[in-house]
Amino acid sequence: MVHVSVLLDFYSKSKTYIIEPSEKLILLLRKTAMIEVYNLWKQYQRPNWALSGISMKIEKGDFCFITGPSGSGKTTLLKIFYREILPTQGQILIDQRNILRIPDHKIYILRRMMGIVFQDFRLLFHKKVFDNIAIVLRILGVPKKEIRRRVFYSLRMVNLHNKMWEYPKHLSYGEQQRVAIARAVVNNPKIILADEPTGNLDTELAFEIMNLFKRINKKGTTVLICTHDRELIRHYGEKIFFLYRGKILRKESL
Ligand code: ADP
Ligand code: MG
Repeated sequence: MVHVSVLLDFYSKSKTYIIEPSEKLILLLRKTAMIEVYNLWKQYQRPNWALSGISMKIEKGDFCFITGPSGSGKTTLLKIFYREILPTQGQILIDQRNILRIPDHKIYILRRMMGIVFQDFRLLFHKKVFDNIAIVLRILGVPKKEIRRRVFYSLRMVNLHNKMWEYPKHLSYGEQQRVAIARAVVNNPKIILADEPTGNLDTELAFEIMNLFKRINKKGTTVLICTHDRELIRHYGEKIFFLYRGKILRKESL
């Protein structure tokens, strides 16, 4: 009979064999909600409602889209998720935490677990690519050596490590978008929120960016993308929320 310690020793040494399937299994078993939204309303100005009673659930590890025509409330919803704005009414749990209860001075705790890709990129044009990404880690007090390692790793992921010391203005539009994505993932977030991340890119680049998100998602990160690009959704959509005039019309799982 094989002794237990021998077995343990065997399994701990054969990492690639035993750990991969069990990690997948754990992910499957622990598939719980990442974002839960209950009856969410948002009014900027009377009498219009930007969001009218949204309820939705996004599971851990999901790769999902929010789509709908311009003005349907996509950006508003994302902004509420990262607490840039507050809803008029409703509840939201992110990773089981009631985000509307987090006081302003502790919002960094919420944002620390998120990677946000803004519609307008929000790169710092007077800073080099490296510093644009490193800034996230500096704010979190990560040691210098570790910052270098992580910035390089995230830039390599978007295949821009050779542009680390350039200024963003010397990069193409698609490259700037990839820098924004590298910045969003550098902190190893649980969720990526992306607002029209391919809005101004041609089809080929848009697909490249989507493949990148897909790869990030495969590592376990929940990805939520707002887009009105039907072509992209047809290709990549697994879970889609259709927004129309502040309401969710239907949810589709392909
Ligand atoms: P989408 O991202 O789907 O285009 P938005 O969330 O930007 O939609 O907008 C939803 C609605 O809220 C629109 O009618 C828009 O005009 C309105 N809205 C968005 N931001 C503001 C704001 N800061 N002040 C007033 N109205 C706003
Ligand atoms: Mg928008």
